[in-house]
Amino acid sequence: CDMGGLENLVANTAYLKAQAGDHKEMRRRRRSLALPKPEQCSALRFSVGNDFEALCQQQPIGKRLFRQFLRDAAVPEYLAAVEFLDELAGWELAEAGTKDKARQNIINRFCKADSNSFLTFLTGGVAERCKVVTEKDFEEVVKGQVRDATRDFLRGNPFTEYQNSPYFDKFLQWKQYEKLPINEKYFYEFRTLGKGGFGEVCAVQVKNTGQMYACKKLDKKRLKQEAGEKMALVEKQILEKINSPFLVNLAYAYDTPDHLCLVMTLMTGGDLKYHIYDVGERGIEMDRVVYYTAQIATGLLHLHTMNIVYRDMKPENVLLDSQGQCRLSDLGLAVELPNGKIICQKAGTSGYMAPEILKMEPYRMSVDWWALGCSIYEMVAGRLPFKDYKEKVQRDEVARRTFEDECKYTHKNFDALTKKIINLFLKKRIIDRLGCNGDDPRKHEWFKSINFARLEAGLIEPPWTPKPNVVYAKDTGDIRDFSEVRGNINFDAVDQKFFKVFSTGAVSIPWQQEMIDSGLFEELNDPSRVESSSALVTA
Ligand code: ADP
Ligand code: MG
Ligand code: MG
Repeated sequence: CDMGGLENLVANTAYLKAQAGDHKEMRRRRRSLALPKPEQCSALRFSVGNDFEALCQQQPIGKRLFRQFLRDAAVPEYLAAVEFLDELAGWELAEAGTKDKARQNIINRFCKADSNSFLTFLTGGVAERCKVVTEKDFEEVVKGQVRDATRDFLRGNPFTEYQNSPYFDKFLQWKQYEKLPINEKYFYEFRTLGKGGFGEVCAVQVKNTGQMYACKKLDKKRLKQEAGEKMALVEKQILEKINSPFLVNLAYAYDTPDHLCLVMTLMTGGDLKYHIYDVGERGIEMDRVVYYTAQIATGLLHLHTMNIVYRDMKPENVLLDSQGQCRLSDLGLAVELPNGKIICQKAGTSGYMAPEILKMEPYRMSVDWWALGCSIYEMVAGRLPFKDYKEKVQRDEVARRTFEDECKYTHKNFDALTKKIINLFLKKRIIDRLGCNGDDPRKHEWFKSINFARLEAGLIEPPWTPKPNVVYAKDTGDIRDFSEVRGNINFDAVDQKFFKVFSTGAVSIPWQQEMIDSGLFEELNDPSRVESSSALVTA
């Protein structure tokens, strides 16, 4: 009997079963949960700050409760404002066939002075323009000025009233709950999914919600021995800042006696390198290449608008989720470059590095677009522009080809438009390169089949979906174990302080989303429920 095979089978079965969700144990656990009491949350009223966007738009629970406040306030203006914003969001995501109708509906309901839902808070020029808006200036007036004015209106009195309402008290209870200390007991742990430089990545599940995540465990001793602490902290701090459907998000950061742990979006569909080389014929079909590249480009732009260069763009770092949507992962090489700042440091993977980075010339975001060009080429052809698959070649030779050679397209799947966009990403000079002159590469005609607003909202069906009962990861036995860290390593006060800085617990946006998605938000808000659990406490 093959013990390794058996072990892998057992590990896979438990992992798949957890994903399918058997929640008896979870329901039992949930009965003993309760929000902190309001009087325990008063200090938070000051520390949560006064930022309307953060409190009422970005944080999912904040957004929910603010919306509930507006709906329940019984002020027609408030209701009209919320409904207008919702309808406008719906219009932005509408497909071509229904878009005209949605626009006309918005004009009739919110822009006509005799309508019940007319936006009566509008004043001055905006109000005048709104009343006479037509389909021609709809974008400028309604999507632009009227929306801005509506948000400004909500930011005023409604926001202040909300902050003095029971809805905001409830929000503070959730914010207090969000601070709960996290340790390994918070999760069930499942099989190893992969191996990184400082430790393994395994699947975990939050006991109270059933939410699955990937947990990247960094060995504290190894970090210290190889001076990796600073890099680990940079990765964590960048991960917690970003929030995009096309980047893995960080949900928790905590530590155990031996590890620092990053709990991130679980991607069960395997990485694109695996899909290029290990599934079917080498390469990926063109419709999938366009779809993945559209998501990757949007993810890169999200990083770039936050002044972050990714520096490790390659198919291996693009992971698929269970639906077949992709996200960029492994932000270990990413670096934040405040406006105007440039860098000359060599970083990246051989075969994907742009001429400027190989020459250690100053660069910013340009290197990511070059690497994206290499990655599109690789998805189509199953090799890199300047390096054949499994070719044994010196880094210097790859660099020489990168500087001097023209990209050649011998593979049968390259069409004219695909060659065109790759050539634009592989321009040797930064100023000639697509994406490097304040232009948006997503406007290139290669992407003409993609509606990016709908793509970002997750409304475009992926061209390929992973099979639900397959584990797209190497067998557990084939993921090489780590050798023990040798030598005697002790942690001093500086190390302990670093561990503390790293271990900040739950990250607001993903944590709040998890509470909503799992139904725990509704459950703990239920007034009858609060009584029964406090009864439990006094019993
Ligand atoms: P390192 O930076 O040390 O290389 P990675 O972040 O690349 O670590 O993670 C190592 C491996 O773990 C990856 O190659 C992949 O197989 C797996 N992995 C990483 N993140 C996830 C995730 N979010 N979901 C599923 N598997 C993941
Ligand atoms: Mg990696
Ligand atoms: Mg890394």
